[in-house]
Amino acid sequence: MLQIPGPTNVPDRVLRAMDFPTIDHRGEEFFRLAKKCLSGIKDIFKTESHVIIYPASGTGAWEAALVNTLSAGDTVLMVETGHFASLWVKLAKRLGINAELIETNWRRGADAEKIAERLSQDHTDEIKAVCIVHNETSTGAMSDILKVRKCIDDVGHNALLMVDTISSLASSDFCHDDWGVDVTVSGSQKGLMLPPGLSFNAVSKKALGASEGANLPRSYWDWGEHIESNSNGAFPYTPATNLLFGLNEAILMLKEEGLDKVFLRHKRHAEATRLAVQTWGLEVLCENKDDFSNTLTAVLLPDGHDADTFRAVVLDNFNMSLGNGLSRLAGKVFRIGHLGDFNDLMLVATLGGIEMGLSKSSVPHQVGGTQAAMQFLKQNS
Ligand SMILES: *Cc1c(COP(=O)(O)O)cnc(C)c1O
Repeated sequence: MLQIPGPTNVPDRVLRAMDFPTIDHRGEEFFRLAKKCLSGIKDIFKTESHVIIYPASGTGAWEAALVNTLSAGDTVLMVETGHFASLWVKLAKRLGINAELIETNWRRGADAEKIAERLSQDHTDEIKAVCIVHNETSTGAMSDILKVRKCIDDVGHNALLMVDTISSLASSDFCHDDWGVDVTVSGSQKGLMLPPGLSFNAVSKKALGASEGANLPRSYWDWGEHIESNSNGAFPYTPATNLLFGLNEAILMLKEEGLDKVFLRHKRHAEATRLAVQTWGLEVLCENKDDFSNTLTAVLLPDGHDADTFRAVVLDNFNMSLGNGLSRLAGKVFRIGHLGDFNDLMLVATLGGIEMGLSKSSVPHQVGGTQAAMQFLKQNS
């Protein structure tokens, strides 16, 4: 059982859809597939603008967002909500971007008011972009993107808004157009239920405009070449053909279920999970109720108990992988992934494995968390 918060379980339908010989990516059959993917994925990002698909992990799409819109020495404002946000900061610095940081205690989402405060001091529009991780996968805290957008607008600042939705897209509501996001970064291996290997940039008109003047070196990541080729269903270089077979199927599955239902399913599983954690008497890392993640829950172990030892017990006994604590959270938390292709019985099994693991590794806790979650699922079906 793979209950890390991404890569997630790949549904059988997606596996079967990819299980075909690779086809000529310069032929009509491929162009038809690519056009379906390129148009279908827009509905998932809720955008009418371009979505660029890279044969790369999410990190590639982070880099693409920056090199297409910024110039050497540009200042961007980033919020360090956790490990993934800090990796994006590191990447920006390596590219020669001046990344200015708003720090957090890694237990909550981005504070929109702090962003507004900083932007309001920036009278000369030094800050070219605000970069936020929508769902911080290392902590299980979400940021309110619409609120950040409103704060930028209220201040009247011209910065681009860039959002990493790698662990929220197709599992928590996200609206690229309506929320006024300029570049949305995402990846295939979390809510989209695919193996790792695809990543995305959804780009606004304003971001496309910025790309014309941006001078950071870019070649592989260049939006322009993609947009030009994509109009015919082609790619500027060999695409990840079989992953696109899978993407087409995953989009179909999401549309069959309906995005709103997909989001409700994730929210309900997140609530049931937190109820289990609370019943065990353990602490959810995210301390701000409004910021609770719908896709994963990070759980603190009591002092003197190592989360990785606990995870090893669960893996050895039940063949279930739980997410580890990253960087400053190493050994302190374990993370329960409840996203992607996931249902009530998978959640009950996941929680059951955790509850048995807590007991086997002598972590002090109250029994009955799994039972409480089952009760919740029954009453809220
Ligand atoms: C998984 C994840 C990443 C990293 O993506 P890779 O595919 O490993 O490059 C970045 N940001 C967030 C929020 C993630 O969840």
